[in-house]
Amino acid sequence: MATLSLALPTARSSTAIVIPRKTDALFFSHDDLNAHVIQFQQKLARLGIGPKSAVSIALPNSYEFIVAFLATTRQRAIAAPLNPAYKQDEFDFYIDDLRSAVVLVPRDFHSQNGPAIRAARKHQAAIAECFWDGRDVVLDVKDPGKLANRRREDLCEARPNDIALVLHTSGTTGRPKAVPLTHLNLTTTMRNIKATYQLSPEDRTYLVMPLFHVHGLLAGFLAPLHSEGSVIAPARFSASEFWADFTTYKANWYTAVPTIHQILLRSPLPSKLPVIRFIRSCSSPLSPQTFHDLEKAFSAPVVEAYAMTEGAHQMTSNPLPPLKRYPGSVGIGWGVDVKILDQDGNGVPQGSEGEICIRGENVTKGYLNNPEANRSSFTAKGFFKTGDQGIQDQNGYIVITGRIKEIINKGGEKISPVEIDNVITRHPAVAEAVTFAIPDDMYGQDVGVAVVLHEGAWASKDELRQWMATKMAKFKVAKQIYFAKIMPKTATGKVQRRKVADAMLEAER
Ligand code: ATP
Ligand code: MG
Repeated sequence: MATLSLALPTARSSTAIVIPRKTDALFFSHDDLNAHVIQFQQKLARLGIGPKSAVSIALPNSYEFIVAFLATTRQRAIAAPLNPAYKQDEFDFYIDDLRSAVVLVPRDFHSQNGPAIRAARKHQAAIAECFWDGRDVVLDVKDPGKLANRRREDLCEARPNDIALVLHTSGTTGRPKAVPLTHLNLTTTMRNIKATYQLSPEDRTYLVMPLFHVHGLLAGFLAPLHSEGSVIAPARFSASEFWADFTTYKANWYTAVPTIHQILLRSPLPSKLPVIRFIRSCSSPLSPQTFHDLEKAFSAPVVEAYAMTEGAHQMTSNPLPPLKRYPGSVGIGWGVDVKILDQDGNGVPQGSEGEICIRGENVTKGYLNNPEANRSSFTAKGFFKTGDQGIQDQNGYIVITGRIKEIINKGGEKISPVEIDNVITRHPAVAEAVTFAIPDDMYGQDVGVAVVLHEGAWASKDELRQWMATKMAKFKVAKQIYFAKIMPKTATGKVQRRKVADAMLEAER
């Protein structure tokens, strides 16, 4: 199971992929998928795409995406999924960074002027439209001249240390970094996720996360596929279609960021809830309040996991019942060594804070073209430094207390922004809270909180401060509270604390 191609289930007539559509749905068995992937691989090979060629995939979640991704990686080429909603500058950066040979776009992609197309032209990459024509996934190269001097390639078979995928980090703390992940990295995570949730051919997941980030790609698609289960893959998340699709296609679990769980909690529930085996939350902190609301509303165990691009997604997760899951914690390592280390790379006593560090075959060997980050990101013993601060609690579970760069330092007193978010979101009027450092003359930094209230609900700043004062030490009570209508987020629903802080401080001026 060392390469993705070998990880594809062999000869099975059961359903691998369902694509819900307005009028009808498309169903593909594991056999169909295998056949389409090999056909697509042959097309890539004929175009001269082979070992180390970069293929940018600017397609929305779709059967085309799935087939193109698997075929590219089988062909020992590098798949580079890109958010189709990027603007030209972003496409420019990513296509140039990888020197992509070809950029895959949807059919009739905004005539000739789409940002991806303009960026591809600028960087001498060919453009190919991809779509399902009812029989086959078509690869329609718009400017074959760009590939004319390439020699036809043989069909390849990928090896464990080939780079299968390059994705960029979310850019929450700075410019996104390019992370190469090998077949071995990906299959390790696929196996780890399968083991964590005991995924089997009976499982059917409803994919709501985009495939251009590790969360959707690994947890929402590759791990279920590797378990020979089914993936129901709508083009995008829609709260109004979620339950109908979930029920119609008999899904039994889903994985999402907290924002999506919260949207679902605010949306009407179906009269008859489907039976959900478990709900997975990952990529941003899930407040204990949302954890409890979800378990109650959807009658299913909620498991929070912790992941990052550099770890090919999952690093830790809470386990399923009958093992214990703890709200506010991200659980334990599954096939990944996890340690809490101090600045010198030494272990800290249980319960003390330090940097969460990880080691395992899932972890990237290093960023592309970024020797400086690579030097500072690994310890002498080969642990990757996540940049996240955390503790190992009395149960041996990991609790993330914030990003090292975002910990609030109030006159030497370190304050975890996550802890404060969690206290404020327990207030009945509060829908979302994001805590950050604000400049302070006396202490250097103090606590600021941006709050979004539930629709129709109201609480004054004083009331919220009093609420905090009854639940935590006085020095942690927010000095400033800012009301916001919406919280700025990245494409994958991640809160950028620094951006929220800047927006709030700016609005005050
Ligand atoms: P960049 O590295 O460019 O600043 P990023 O770290 O947000 O962006 P990703 O790789 O998408 O990019 O996200 C990984 C980060 O997400 C982790 O380092 C951690 O801070 C955060 N994260 C993931 N899961 C959780 C979780 N369950 N709770 C809290 N934070 C989480
Ligand atoms: Mg990061």
